[in-house]
Amino acid sequence: MSNRTLAILKPDCVRKNLIGQVVAKINEAGFKVVAMKMTHLTNESASGFYEVHKERPFFGELVEFMTSGPCVPIVLEKENAVADFRKTIGATNPANAEEGTIRKMYADGIEQNIVHGSDSDENAKIEIAHFFSRKEILENYGL
Ligand code: ADP
Ligand code: MG
Repeated sequence: MSNRTLAILKPDCVRKNLIGQVVAKINEAGFKVVAMKMTHLTNESASGFYEVHKERPFFGELVEFMTSGPCVPIVLEKENAVADFRKTIGATNPANAEEGTIRKMYADGIEQNIVHGSDSDENAKIEIAHFFSRKEILENYGL
């Protein structure tokens, strides 16, 4: 079991000025931010990130949404990070998300759902490497 997961504050989160509130919720849930940046995904980068969904009917729209403005990828650390973060954000469709979850509180719909969270330790590693080099992660700053 790994202790890291990748979150992305999606373009709707940035547009709605919710970065601070969502990071606060993440910290309150016990996660430590060990890397964070703001970036505007290219088509190629977003398509690569969501490669597993490329046959899904919503793939084109998803890539369009994820490239519609800047987003904020974050590496989070906590024991049992992947599963606990999925619990903290709630179901993909905010209508089905539990009360108190980030998607329930802030998301407008199944696509514009504020935040991404890795779904397995294996994918967390791949997704972290999609955005961050080793030296960009806190423990490697030499502080
Ligand atoms: P999750 O982000 O909860 O892991 P998925 O991996 O199934 O969900 O989907 C990736 C992202 O694609 C979702 O977070 C959402 O932004 C978008 N998405 C998922 N299902 C749909 C759908 N039926 N229609 C539109 N967008 C969707
Ligand atoms: Mg997913």
